[in-house]
Amino acid sequence: MTLYLLFLLIAVLLFSLWTLNRSWQQVIADAENLAVNLSVSQTRQAEDTFLQTEITLRMIKNAIPEGDTAKVNAAQLNPILAEMQSRLPQLYGLFVYDAQGNWVANSAQSKPVNINNADREYFRYHRENPRDSIHIGHVIRSRNSGDLVIPVSLRLNDAAGGFSGVVLATIGVDYFRHFYSFFELGKRDLLALILDDGTALYVRPWSESFVNRNIANSPLFTTQLTQASRGKGTWRSELDGIPRIFGYARSDRYSLIVAAGFDRPALWKRWLNNSLPDLALNGALLLIIVLMSLMVLRQVKTNVRNQIELTDLRDELTLINQTLQAMALLDGLTGLANRRQFDLFLAQSLKRSALTGKPVSLIMIDIDYFKPYNDTYGHVAGDRCLLQVGAVLKTLSHRKTDLVARYGGEEFAIVLPDTESQDSLHLAWRAVNAVLDAAIPHQSSALAMKKVTISAGCYGLQGRDEEQDALKIKEGADAALYQAKRDGRNRAVISAGDDI
Ligand code: GH3
Ligand code: MG
Ligand code: MG
Repeated sequence: MTLYLLFLLIAVLLFSLWTLNRSWQQVIADAENLAVNLSVSQTRQAEDTFLQTEITLRMIKNAIPEGDTAKVNAAQLNPILAEMQSRLPQLYGLFVYDAQGNWVANSAQSKPVNINNADREYFRYHRENPRDSIHIGHVIRSRNSGDLVIPVSLRLNDAAGGFSGVVLATIGVDYFRHFYSFFELGKRDLLALILDDGTALYVRPWSESFVNRNIANSPLFTTQLTQASRGKGTWRSELDGIPRIFGYARSDRYSLIVAAGFDRPALWKRWLNNSLPDLALNGALLLIIVLMSLMVLRQVKTNVRNQIELTDLRDELTLINQTLQAMALLDGLTGLANRRQFDLFLAQSLKRSALTGKPVSLIMIDIDYFKPYNDTYGHVAGDRCLLQVGAVLKTLSHRKTDLVARYGGEEFAIVLPDTESQDSLHLAWRAVNAVLDAAIPHQSSALAMKKVTISAGCYGLQGRDEEQDALKIKEGADAALYQAKRDGRNRAVISAGDDI
């Protein structure tokens, strides 16, 4: 029962844990899907932003005759650049530089004095790299305004294919900041625009320290992106160490990656708050089960105890009953069979005799001169004498099927089933001699030896299954006994009327 209840308890506990775990796994799966969707849509958005910028750059490139920056009429180009810049919200500025990094034209329409951009990374990149694709650089601080911008540039070639300058568009980091602020995200949820080389261009939540941070060592680059260009997973952010549930997507067109991450501890906290009613309900259920189990256990224990007590009681009663039964069949003084048992046994033996055809013999025994014995030694001594004579009769060697009984007063009887009366006479004589041999003094005996003696009468009978059988055998034995008394006592006599 205890094991069963324990099993039930553990099963309920495991089921509750399993249900809770499933609901938490569902929260994680939902967050992952949301993160993937967000990163995919934001990669598209970034692609569009950069595509518009690329188109603008190519238009400017085409507007420069034979790629020769010396032939550019700044007064003509500057307003066009300004117009283009104002059309696209992401554009912070548009610039044309010659092969030496000098300013040729720009959308701000002002030419700063003594500024040369030949040292910029994008400039060196295009000078050394003949590829005709746009180059997205690390975030830089605008030399004009001091604002953070992302440089997007295209190489200019002269007629011979040599490097003749750079067309540059800058995209304000603020543009992404503004755009990403539209999303309903938690305080510590993350949205990041990252370059292929692991450089963070923009990260929400905003911190200037994140700008240009290289996170190439994060699991995003070391494992995730090496397996798939979009996906999901949970890891600790390289930027601030917060564990997040991430989704990410890499752009097919540009060297860009967008990652969206949900603050895992915050999600856990929210899930825990939402699951509190479930937890409380499960807890209450468990408590009820435990209490009920304890009650059932106690009940079972009580039942078992009652059963044990009942069994003990039954055993005790059986024992008492057996004792009572034995007591009802035994003589209290001598411990021999009593008159009741004698009558039962005699009746049974006669019935059996009627069936088997074998005779039953009876020896009736009477102590001689017992009244004078009592008168001389007192009744207590008389009782002791009865006990002694009884013991002598009991120890007489005879068959196990024989019964020695106290018939009443100072009279004894021996029932001998399957025995001829002649054989019973032998036993009767052995009894007479044994009592004499016991040498119990009897001063008031009329016999010369002055010892306690007995007289015995034997009678045998073939049972006929009649009611008179018992009476007849007793009368027969009794008659023989009186004959023995008359003949002088201390002897055994067989009844003359014996019909065997
Ligand atoms: P007889 O030789 O003719 O048998 O003489 P008797 O004195 O034995 O004859 P009687 O039958 O008259 O006496 C029997 C006596 O046995 C009477 C009674 O006092 C005594 N007696 C009977 N039952 C008990 C008993 O349980 N205890 C004692 N102490 N005496 C008993
Ligand atoms: Mg008598
Ligand atoms: Mg007597």
